Amino acid sequence: MGYFQEVRCVRCGHPLGDGRYYEGCPICQEAGVNSNYTTVYDVTGAKLPGQNGEPGIYRFRDFYPISPDVAPVSIGEGNTPLLKLERLGRDMGLNNLYAKDETRNPTLSFKDRLCSLVATMARQQKAPALTISSTGNHGAAMAAYAAAAEIPCIVFTVPYVPDAMKTLMQVYGAYVMVCPTAQDRWTIMGQCVRELGWMPASGFQIRLLAATAMPLTATSPLPLRFMSSWVERLLLFSLHLQPIATVSTVFTKA
Ligand SMILES: [Zn+2]
Repeated sequence: MGYFQEVRCVRCGHPLGDGRYYEGCPICQEAGVNSNYTTVYDVTGAKLPGQNGEPGIYRFRDFYPISPDVAPVSIGEGNTPLLKLERLGRDMGLNNLYAKDETRNPTLSFKDRLCSLVATMARQQKAPALTISSTGNHGAAMAAYAAAAEIPCIVFTVPYVPDAMKTLMQVYGAYVMVCPTAQDRWTIMGQCVRELGWMPASGFQIRLLAATAMPLTATSPLPLRFMSSWVERLLLFSLHLQPIATVSTVFTKA
């Protein structure tokens, strides 16, 4: 399992273990508090991932809880170009301002990174279906990676989602269920997860793991001396104004 240690509660430290607590920490829930998880790594002796023969983000496979015998679900995500923003950097007084062009991913968004890993975990756990609550690119990305994994995908969405996005999800083979309200889609999706064993790709802790690799992919073309500050707090710009990504990850030393 490489450098990956465990997933634990950010509030009480409860470890996830082999449980599939898709709805947050059960200990904190008993106390009436919703709490999420974070990932823990032992990076003692860690090196920047090199050429391990794996595609895209799976150069960083040592950071994921993927069994050695599981083939990653990859359709060319990652390895997006890091572009130096000379003019904007000059205007902002920054000598080294870079943009990671995440539009180069297969479905045009950084969500492909997350969905690639979620689909790989679904393959590892032999999930009967993948499901997601989405109004756009996340649903399209999940649909594409579920298709690549040959796992059914059900997207719960809302009426005001543009037809272009719904069509994109369907083109990738997803079943698109339009719910009357935003709350309805979460309610129905939750029931399917609890009662049918579908793997959720929304509000799902494994997404953190794929997000963790983003600073690594962003910095890998740069000298190692940039690593520490970037890993702790990464400002990741992309050319189509994806949100700034803040990675909450606990690194430990043995
Ligand atoms: Zn907790």
